[in-house]
Amino acid sequence: MANTMTADLHTHSNFSDGTDTPEKLIDAAVAAGLTTIALTDHDTANGWDEIAKHIPAGMRVLPGAEFSTKHPDENGELVSVHLLGYLFDRDNPAIVAEWKRMHDERAQRGARIVGKLIDGGFPITLERVEEIAGSANIGRPHIGKALVEVKAVKDVGEAFVDLLHDGSPYYVPLQSTSLAGGIKLINDAGGVAVIAHPRAREAAAVLTEDVLASLVPLGLAGLEVNHYGHDADARAELSDIATRLGLLQTGSSDYHGTNKKDVHIGMNCTPDDVVEEIIARGAIAPFGPAQ
Ligand code: AMP
Ligand code: FE
Ligand code: FE
Ligand code: ZN
Repeated sequence: MANTMTADLHTHSNFSDGTDTPEKLIDAAVAAGLTTIALTDHDTANGWDEIAKHIPAGMRVLPGAEFSTKHPDENGELVSVHLLGYLFDRDNPAIVAEWKRMHDERAQRGARIVGKLIDGGFPITLERVEEIAGSANIGRPHIGKALVEVKAVKDVGEAFVDLLHDGSPYYVPLQSTSLAGGIKLINDAGGVAVIAHPRAREAAAVLTEDVLASLVPLGLAGLEVNHYGHDADARAELSDIATRLGLLQTGSSDYHGTNKKDVHIGMNCTPDDVVEEIIARGAIAPFGPAQ
């Protein structure tokens, strides 16, 4: 098979903090000329059933998720690391338990961030943020949208720069599972674990080659190399590390609909041979066209 680049293995729907329904996400993928996407909402597989209903001929979907995890830096401070899991058994009891915990944790943590913003004089309400999130777990982009509505900021990107970033006085961290624990969760459920955007944001400092090497025996399968958060140097460095450690190299957009306005579906892709390897290793088959 020719090694074409028509697979985008990291996208979000409105089942987490993307703005497209799964159906619209598929429409966007088709319009971009893609033949494979992965649905990787944060800490949930709730969008899988919906996206399975809308897959046209010529398209397949790898069901997955982006797990929120933490890894300590050299001072023992916990740093956020995002971990992609593909083709795992979503009924695995440990995953079900972790996501139940994360659902409650996101609700409480979202309420604390909103409380701090209200105390800071921003006229948002928790009710409105919950409405914006709908059935999705609450994430900072939902709070960002509420801030846009009250005209505190012009868009969600500005909300992060001004108010929602990790160093902000309004920030409250998520109590996440460990990175090693997340890799184990995914592997125990038969899935394929790939670290998302390892050189973007604060995770870059903790994900040294030594740390990554220590995760390989635990079941780490790959690194997301081609991502908008990585410059050319970061991509080259990660590609070298992946080659040395025998890890798969993926590329993806990390599409969030209009919540990340400069990010377009398919802007980075994964080669077909890597997609086939992920499918070969996964516990479940990709979703094909709806019958
Ligand atoms: P949370 O999971 O609630 O901690 O929120 C993190 C999410 O916010 C990430 O997964 C991204 O989707 C989103 N995010 C982070 N930085 C930005 C940004 N600068 N602009 C828009 N969305 C962002
Ligand atoms: Fe997100
Ligand atoms: Fe992420
Ligand atoms: Zn993502």
